[in-house]
Amino acid sequence: MARTLLIQTAKAMKTRRTPARPVSDVKGKGLIRSLNRASTKTKKNPPVEAAAGRPKEPSACERCGAIFSRRVWRQRREVPHALLDRASWTTCPGCRQASQAVGLGRIIVRGPYLGGHEAAIRRRIANVSARAAYTQPERRVSSIERQEDALEILTTSQKLAHRIVRELKKAFGGRASYAWSDDGTLLATWLR
Ligand SMILES: [Zn+2]
Repeated sequence: MARTLLIQTAKAMKTRRTPARPVSDVKGKGLIRSLNRASTKTKKNPPVEAAAGRPKEPSACERCGAIFSRRVWRQRREVPHALLDRASWTTCPGCRQASQAVGLGRIIVRGPYLGGHEAAIRRRIANVSARAAYTQPERRVSSIERQEDALEILTTSQKLAHRIVRELKKAFGGRASYAWSDDGTLLATWLR
């Protein structure tokens, strides 16, 4: 069950990424990204939407406060009273994935450095994921698990897994490597 969902979500990410129409006359990266996604033509709804039905607009996530409008979930600092008044409360895909601990990105942190620096590594991961979640609430860390000789981190996006490992390497050195598995999960390994 969990595995099927993982594969479906991986496919959804691919369809979402592909035919992005360039938008030239708008300001701000976030807006461009959202317009691209809004204009992306998919024959089917992404499985996440199909499974739960597309949320009404506007909707608000009752866990993280993200707002769904113009087909995009977004964290907003201020939400107009009138908008929140009309909003239906629901759970955003990111929160749903996080609660099911379904990951599209898997990070393995390994090596002797982990022994004495786990707290600093965890802080770095928290900072990077907080920044990512601010602009893209559906990108987040779903779980961090300490294993005997490694730290395993699951993320709801491949991009976030890549970003975390890149930032770990930037901050502490070490070696990074990436591998995609058949189900679309990115395995990012950081060794130090
Ligand atoms: Zn949420």
